[in-house]
Formats: sequence, C-alpha cells, structure tokens
Amino acid sequence: MTKRIAILGSTGSVGRKALRVIDALGPEYVIIALSAHTSVELLAEQARRYRPKYIAITDAKHAAKVKDLVRDLDAEVLAGPESLVQIAELEDVDIVLTAVVGAAGLPSALSAAKKGKKLAIANKEPLVIAGELLTKTARENGGTILPVDSEHSAICQAMRSGSRREVSRIILTASGGPFRKAGIEDLQYVTLEQALAHPVWDMGPKITIDSATMMNKAFEVIEAHWLFDMPVEKIEVLVHPESIVHSLVEFVDGSVIAQMGQPDMCLPIQYALTYPARVAGIGKPLRLEEIGKLTFERPDFETFRALPLGYEVARTGGTAPVVFNAANEAAVQEFLAGAIEFVNIVELIERCLDKHTVKRQVALEELLEVDAWARKEVRNSLKQKAFSRRRHGDGQIQITI
Ligand code: MG
Repeated sequence: MTKRIAILGSTGSVGRKALRVIDALGPEYVIIALSAHTSVELLAEQARRYRPKYIAITDAKHAAKVKDLVRDLDAEVLAGPESLVQIAELEDVDIVLTAVVGAAGLPSALSAAKKGKKLAIANKEPLVIAGELLTKTARENGGTILPVDSEHSAICQAMRSGSRREVSRIILTASGGPFRKAGIEDLQYVTLEQALAHPVWDMGPKITIDSATMMNKAFEVIEAHWLFDMPVEKIEVLVHPESIVHSLVEFVDGSVIAQMGQPDMCLPIQYALTYPARVAGIGKPLRLEEIGKLTFERPDFETFRALPLGYEVARTGGTAPVVFNAANEAAVQEFLAGAIEFVNIVELIERCLDKHTVKRQVALEELLEVDAWARKEVRNSLKQKAFSRRRHGDGQIQITI
C-alpha cells in the first residue's frame, strides 16, 4: 500500500538521510511535501527530484526565491511557520516525519496527532515541552507517535519483547559527547569548535551542543517518560561511548533486551517509516567482531549538571520542561554566536528555572507564552552582563577525549 509522506525539515541532517532511506524503500513511499527553514537552494533541488505537491519555506522572507526556483514545477509553495501546520493537516499525507529544530516543531506535531496521522518524530522538543498534550492528542485521535531518536527507537523495538506491565526499567545509553572525560574545571575552557566536534554522531549544530552539555540526554529522559508512559524513576542513563547499544529495556524477570546497530540514523528513520514491519536497509551491517569491545560507565552528574536538572524538571512537570527547553535553545544560540561560554548554557537555564513559577494543565497557547518568556529571560540575563565572556588563550586547557 502506498505511504504518503511529508518531511518537515527536509534539508537538515535527519531530513536528508530520510530522503536516502525513502529512495531505497521503493515506489510505494511517496513524498507529498517537503519543508525547509532557510536552505532555499537545497529545498528547490530536493523538490526537483522528488516532485512533492507542496513545498514549504518557514522563513517567509525566502518565499519569493523558492517560488522562482521551482516555478516550472507543479507544486504549491507555502510560506511562514504556519505552513508546517498546513502540511501536517493535509488529507493526502499518511506519515508526517518531523525533523525541524526546536520548539518550532510543536504546532505541526500537534496538528498531525490531531488528524490521527503517523507522526515519525525526530524533533524531540515537542515531546519535551508538551509531552502530555501531544501523547494525549494522538491517543484520543487515533494517531501514532513513532520515535526517530535512536535511543527511543531502540526502546520501542526492545519493548516488543514483553508487555508494558512487564517492564521494570528503561536504560538510555549516552555516548557521553566530546567531554566525557572532562571534569567541572575543564568545562570552563571549552571552545565552540571543541563542543561541535562530536566523537560519534554526525548531527546538526544545535543537537551537537546539546550532546556536549548532555542536555540532549536530559531531554531524552523526558521524551522517554512521555513516549513510553514510564515514571521518571524507572528511566536511567548509561554512558556507552561506542554508541552501538542504542538503549536497553529491563523486564521484571531480570532479562535485559538491548537494541544494537551502527551509530547511523538510517535505521531509526526507516523503522519509524516501515513500523511495525522490517525491510532490508541501506545502513552498514553491524559486525561486533570489528567493534571488539563495548564499554559502559555511570554518567557524571556533577560535571554535567544538565542531567540532574533534567530529572528534576521531569519530576516537576507542568511548564518546567518548557522553560528548560526554551532557555536552552536561547542559550545555545548565544553560545553558537560566540556570545557566552559553554558553562554559561546550563547556568542560564538554571537561572531561568529559578525565576519561573510552574503552571499545570496548560494549553498550547500558554505553553508558547512560557516559551517566549524563557527566551526573553535568557536575553535579559545577558543584557545585565551577569555572564561575561572569559578570554581564551594561555589558560586554555586541552580536553582529552
Ligand atoms: Mg538520541
């Protein structure tokens, strides 16, 4: 049966990989819509190849350029952030693969859930900030949320070994990022370049920084909590630098089921698209004899404060995760722009959480208001010069990986 797919964020790292996966899946997987934020040329190139009915550019100032580049194609060009919602609601779309960056992916993810579609979710922020609302909306409208995040795809696969009630623990693996062996002191001198050099995964800049601070893992704990309806106390993080075991599920009888594979997003993307079926894939096969050794360590909660903070935020619930995410997005943006130090990222998030009064049972509109407040709060902290940029130079410590 034909599967009609919309890819939100088709020019990003996951979006481009998804197109390669779909190429190999064959003609029953049809691209109906593609979207990009600013990568106009690549979007036009993809449109020329996949001939979608709809092309969306979320940064509306590029709309004229996109229209011009695809004027000979039989496609409707949509513009602005709301174009993602329009696409997610299309009658002729069965699967919405959302791979946009950040909270910007929330309204369209909710729309897809509301329309009872299959939502293949690579963009973890919607689950972090509105996990309750999103999973409830999907449940009530016959929608399915399929994780594309490698850890959650692994859990989803391992879960099939038993019933939900038989699960005693979820163990999320973490590569540990580029600063796995660093101590609190070392993190003071981290440069942008070092933070962007992830040892295993090749990803976009936002998620690469989130991996370096381990915010990414903190988000994944919250994501797992909602996706698998699992209490936070039963979700653990285990550092596994080789990134071959993508996560594990422990059952009540003590059996632990791990999902393994190459550290490559092809498999989790494909599994979400073909679920519950498995088909031949394009990824490199795993040969454990070539890997030789798999190692595991306890995460360092003292150096990577994002982790205990993430657990606290997950337990608190309500709007706390909204602030946690929005403050992080704003702080990472500042770090990428060279305006703050690496350690300031988590400091800014903590400061923002301290100032926030948690609200519960809020609708989308209010979530977005809290999101905007937190971003503004981060900018205000910077204006007050509470965070000054340290000078790199002689004092710089080489981080050993
Ligand atoms: Mg992940």
